[in-house]
Amino acid sequence: MSRSDNPVWVIAEQVSEIIPTVCFELVGQARKLADDLGASAEALLLGEVTRDQIDLLFYSGADVVYHGNSPDFGIYQSEIYSETIVTLSKETQPQIILLGSTFIGRELAPIIAAKLGTGLTAHCMDLFINEEHILGQRIPAYGGLISITCPEKRPQIATVAQGVFQVPELDKNRSGKILPVEPPVGLKLRVKTLEVVIKKPEGVPLEEAPIVVAGGSGAGCVEGWQEIKTLADVLDAALGSTRPAVDEGWTDLDTMIGQSGKMVNPELYIGVGLSGEQQHMVGITNAKVMVAINNDPKSPVFEQVDYGIVEDCREFVPLLVKKLQGKNKKSRT
Ligand SMILES: Cc1cc2nc3c(=O)[nH]c(=O)nc-3n(C[C@H](O)[C@H](O)[C@H](O)COP(=O)(O)OP(=O)(O)OC[C@H]3O[C@@H](n4cnc5c(N)ncnc54)[C@H](O)[C@@H]3O)c2cc1C
Repeated sequence: MSRSDNPVWVIAEQVSEIIPTVCFELVGQARKLADDLGASAEALLLGEVTRDQIDLLFYSGADVVYHGNSPDFGIYQSEIYSETIVTLSKETQPQIILLGSTFIGRELAPIIAAKLGTGLTAHCMDLFINEEHILGQRIPAYGGLISITCPEKRPQIATVAQGVFQVPELDKNRSGKILPVEPPVGLKLRVKTLEVVIKKPEGVPLEEAPIVVAGGSGAGCVEGWQEIKTLADVLDAALGSTRPAVDEGWTDLDTMIGQSGKMVNPELYIGVGLSGEQQHMVGITNAKVMVAINNDPKSPVFEQVDYGIVEDCREFVPLLVKKLQGKNKKSRT
């Protein structure tokens, strides 16, 4: 069992030498958790970045940044990264390790949890220190939010998506220690990342879009999905989805909103043919106005939105598109 002042860690990844926003959000939250515990907040960063990126970690709340800038850390290698994190974790005994629910974090977190023989709570929606000085990890389940704790094993490991926590206010008077980290010696890689390809989202990025149209399994088929996509296009909206729409292959994982997808902050959210399951709805809690289109008047989604339209989306969406296209034409003439 660790002491209550053992550090709180954030794995601050870098992609093309840039630290993603979620890492700063997590450092801000680590700062709060560390203050509640009387511990230090520390970031572990593997790969070369500019000094101002490291300073941003200090300004966000880190007391210490462990930095490995060997070329071995240049692009993400799961075996090198996990081995380095596990070795340093055994030496310095953090009581908590936080990672972003990014492609890297999602892969690293279970590997380091397994190697350290501890638990992992994925896609948390909140983190807090409970009265027993243990990390409370809130996730959506059973139609609401439940808290998971890891009472015995250490470290307590959690992943969190971008947008769950706010980017902290930067305190430019803050600074801290940078401690070097070396890659493991003599590690024979069984898996090697050859290249990292960054795919730019088509159209408006979901997280920044003022209007989001999200489709669910009620679309029924590829043609139904295409109608929802057209509605998004006509409204200049970003296209979002639920997990079944991704599983059906109608859309990419990039469009999934919710606990294991993205957090969105639109002025207007329109959910089409989806049931309002918590795992999806936690991704839209910041939406200003919410509308749902569902053919089941008893659907739980209607209890969660501002405006409900009880209609079959296969009939209603094409009519709405026609109407909006007509309006757009008129406003152009
Ligand atoms: C650990 C975990 C994490 C998860 N993470 C996510 C996540 O990040 N994002 C996510 O979305 N899901 C996630 N899920 C899945 C989630 O629990 C739900 O299964 C999913 O959100 C349901 O999608 P849906 O609303 O499209 O489908 P359903 O629940 O099947 O709802 C379909 C709705 O469409 C309506 N409908 C059917 N036909 C029509 C029609 N013709 N016209 C209008 N309405 C119609 C139905 O009345 C129904 O309400 C996760 C699950 C788990 C266990």
